[in-house]
Amino acid sequence: MKIGGLEKLSLLDYPENISAIVFTQGCNFRCKFCYNPMLVWPSDKKNKKGLSFIKEKDLFLFLKSRLNRLDGVVISGGEPTIYKDLPEFIKKIKDLGLLIKLDTNGTNPEMLNSLWQEKLIDYVAMDLKAPWEKYLKVVNRKIDCRLIKKSVKLLIDNKIPHEFRSTLVPTLHDSEDISKMGQAIKGANAWYLQKFIPSDNLLDSEFSKIKAFNDRKMKEFAKIGKKYVKNCQARGLN
Ligand code: SF4
Repeated sequence: MKIGGLEKLSLLDYPENISAIVFTQGCNFRCKFCYNPMLVWPSDKKNKKGLSFIKEKDLFLFLKSRLNRLDGVVISGGEPTIYKDLPEFIKKIKDLGLLIKLDTNGTNPEMLNSLWQEKLIDYVAMDLKAPWEKYLKVVNRKIDCRLIKKSVKLLIDNKIPHEFRSTLVPTLHDSEDISKMGQAIKGANAWYLQKFIPSDNLLDSEFSKIKAFNDRKMKEFAKIGKKYVKNCQARGLN
């Protein structure tokens, strides 16, 4: 398992908990609006942005030194579930008595299920990228949406503490999409609609020219989302 980054302290990422964030390297999607391009590429070769991998033993030394200050660890990416040894890695963190929040794009329901059954995860934040018929266009990879649907069902039916997250981009999403996406996660605990913010450091530099939705539109989307889930909020507003 390759660890591409570590945020030593976050008060925001894991609801109601103080956490460290571990970023795994590599992703099976290629969302053009991705804010973490340096974490997407799987090989060291493509990763020329000066990112140095963190050794597992150094990470555990750090975690052990912070046990009195941290409640948990967020495992984010990239996409952590592409690593077969993720359960083993998480188990070592759990053995330190820390909670685990997993960020995932939902493409590995089998691993998600076994992590939950083995009591290795405490909270899941799952991306919902688009309505099913638009997934390929948004994630830029051939994808079997049945896998994502399975993950959605798993989180909701098993009452796994969770939230869904969607980054909304004007050239990719509209109001009708929000309704369809809401239907796809009907009954979920929470859905956060993240305003896409153009920047110079996106996976596809063309996206840096796209103007973000304004706050009024984002609030309109959240109003639509509220019809389907318990809590829907727009994020990244001015
Ligand atoms: S946005 Fe997330 S799922 Fe998409 S390419 Fe980036 S890390 Fe992967």
